Amino acid sequence: MVRLNPDGKVAKIKSTKPGDLGEILKAQKAAFDQDSNPSWGSRKSKLLKLSAVIKEYEANFIQAISEDFGHRAAVETVVAESLVIQGSIKHAIKHTPKWMRVRKVPTALQFKPGKNRIVPQPLGVIGIISPWNYPLQLAVVPLIGAIGAGNRAMIKPSEYTPKLSELLKTVLGKVFTDEEVFVATGGVDVAQAFSALPFDHLVFTGSTSVGRIVAKAAADNLVPCTLELGGKSPTIIDDSADIDAIVPKIANGKLLNAGQTCVAPDYVLMPESRINAFSEAILKKAEEFYPKVAGNDDYTSIIADSHYTRLQDLIEDAEKKGATVRVAGDDDKQQLAKERRVPLTVVTDTTPDMRIMQEEIFGPLLPIVPSETLDDSLKYVQERERPLALYWFGNDNKKRDKVLTQSISGGVSINDVAWHVIQEDIPFGGVGPSGMGAYHGEHGFESFSHMKGVFLQSKFSQGGALHPPYTEKTSKMINLMRKLS
Ligand code: NAD
Repeated sequence: MVRLNPDGKVAKIKSTKPGDLGEILKAQKAAFDQDSNPSWGSRKSKLLKLSAVIKEYEANFIQAISEDFGHRAAVETVVAESLVIQGSIKHAIKHTPKWMRVRKVPTALQFKPGKNRIVPQPLGVIGIISPWNYPLQLAVVPLIGAIGAGNRAMIKPSEYTPKLSELLKTVLGKVFTDEEVFVATGGVDVAQAFSALPFDHLVFTGSTSVGRIVAKAAADNLVPCTLELGGKSPTIIDDSADIDAIVPKIANGKLLNAGQTCVAPDYVLMPESRINAFSEAILKKAEEFYPKVAGNDDYTSIIADSHYTRLQDLIEDAEKKGATVRVAGDDDKQQLAKERRVPLTVVTDTTPDMRIMQEEIFGPLLPIVPSETLDDSLKYVQERERPLALYWFGNDNKKRDKVLTQSISGGVSINDVAWHVIQEDIPFGGVGPSGMGAYHGEHGFESFSHMKGVFLQSKFSQGGALHPPYTEKTSKMINLMRKLS
């Protein structure tokens, strides 16, 4: 068992050998076969232990994630990781007993007095591959769904957050055996071997490009997948929106975790006449939120040099192709680069050939595209890959409803950013290139369960009349079924 050292630091964990993963899965499956439908009491006790241990080591998680990022604002880790996890566990504990019940469903007249039932059943072992941007939440929230549904789980966190991965392995090892929950640490070689395992279900959260590779690997074993992917999430600002009221919401949604959020507003669509006022207002708001970006404990660094360079390249490419670039604040550029910090950067005069308008940005750069009418905005969105999230700001309910019916995205928040993601009562997932399947709350329970259809035949059934040899009685039976169906 790996332990925390007396100084509170995590003892170094060796990366998991890719070749060992199959043995761990076998052990988990064998343990599941011995206890394939754990009682609510046993699931609840696991969820409570998970809640307690995440709470107990919150300060260690804050530190580990911050070290992995270069710096991560502590409040962001509390709000976007710990609180989300605790909310999800609380919801699961309150509702899972109801979700576990056998569901009585209607039976068509011609099949009565037989009865239909849906029987939720644990699947077995759930594989979870998680990204670096919210490395605790995106490993643990799928785990909550997996445990609530009565499964065991193996987790592969991102190689970009090695400290968090080691800590997660240590902390989960305190309350779970390897046969219950196993955390695989290591690089892409481990992730590749992990995605090739014959899990009973695989949840992958990450980029669309790696999602494609993972889905192919899972397909070799016909492993069903929930793919939680990324993309360019649009924000449509209607003429009826009050700029002063919406700017803090968009600035906050864009700058949380320095824009390294899958559902961050990627770009804005709005009428040309208001672009200047909006740009100035959001830059001013960013300066109010973060008077200095360098050295400011409230602001998060970009995860790695390669990602920092990618963001600088997006700005340079846009500028070269004629964009106007405005940066919040007056921080020293060298200091910003040293800390891998990027202030809010508003990009206007954009054109479709700019990389910033083609790739998911995943950083605090905000391009703005002129769009005069709602129809123009909807056309722009429809012509592109279906996004993970979509935001609309305005006060015209007819237009709001048109957005909801005529755009397809994983989820939507109206008059705010990202709030739909932390609602436990609605599904969270993408559509098309932004993902498939969903989880959170009951939707996670169903994704990680086999919802088995069961028909209970009655001893009074007339179905026997359909057996050969076919006679006059059979014809009468068929006529009756035609009338009833
Ligand atoms: P990524 O796709 O690079 O990596 C995700 C995970 O895949 C990591 O654990 C990594 O180890 C693993 N991986 C990498 N190469 C692999 C391979 N060849 N085979 C199997 N596994 C492999 O994503 P990232 O950079 O960690 O995260 C950022 C992306 O994730 C963004 O696109 C973002 O939008 C998306 N994201 C989506 C959600 C969501 O809920 N939909 C949430 C957070 C992030």
